[in-house]
Amino acid sequence: MINKQRIREEFVAFVGVTAETRAEREAADLLKQRLTGLQADVREDNAGEKIGGNCGNVLAYIKGNRPDAPVLMLSAHLDCVAPCAGIKPRFKDGLITSGGDTVLGSDDKAGVVAILEAIRVMREQKLPHGDLQLVFTVAEEGGLHGAKSLERESLKADLGYVLDAEGPPGEVVTITPGQDSIHVIMHGKTAHAGMAPEEGLNAIVLAGKALAQLQQGRIDEETTANVGLISGGIATNIVPDKVEISCEARSRNPEKLTRQTRHMAETFQRVAAAYGGKAEVDIK
Ligand SMILES: [Zn+2]
Repeated sequence: MINKQRIREEFVAFVGVTAETRAEREAADLLKQRLTGLQADVREDNAGEKIGGNCGNVLAYIKGNRPDAPVLMLSAHLDCVAPCAGIKPRFKDGLITSGGDTVLGSDDKAGVVAILEAIRVMREQKLPHGDLQLVFTVAEEGGLHGAKSLERESLKADLGYVLDAEGPPGEVVTITPGQDSIHVIMHGKTAHAGMAPEEGLNAIVLAGKALAQLQQGRIDEETTANVGLISGGIATNIVPDKVEISCEARSRNPEKLTRQTRHMAETFQRVAAAYGGKAEVDIK
């Protein structure tokens, strides 16, 4: 059976060490110690160097006793969002919460600890299983940087589960939206607003005209878009020559995502060009 007491102790141990994004070293070392204790073949890749962190992804392999079974991957991420230094979990009414001045770090230590418990139970009960590949990524928060740095040839599994989602026990997420971040700089031309406004091209007005033509919000049942951030201008007596706009598009359908992102980029560029300005568009 699952050992609830052991899960609780492991959870407290893991949220008790530093694991801020790109500074997961302590959590990784604790995990490697645990995995080695479970006779897993453990290594760390060089993702830390690639993304400017102090720690790479931790990969482990556990030989199965059923050679005919598919190789299964279990994955969770090591990092957590700030503030996550000095987490002191509280226990009340069967719930674990943070002390209030930090996050709890259950995202994603709950996943890490669940994987460790699964292996322990598997070992204790001598359960039949195929080879297992464990993948613990760094810097998931803010853009899956650890996962993106994984070397594909290091992945041996036929299928896998990532333990990092909300929802009732047993719920499996099989598809999530793709996302594009669209950063736009609208360039106009500066001028003194009182003396010679006709010499300027107001970038804020340009941005407004483009935004008025932009399809955003709910596009269809699979696709959304949002203008989330805008900044520009210096003073009321200066025609602003630059406005920055940050937007996003999401869709579960890759073609629709491409189409929506293209529409957004083209709208800014077309409107800017029509008035003699320019739009620089950066898509990530
Ligand atoms: Zn997470």
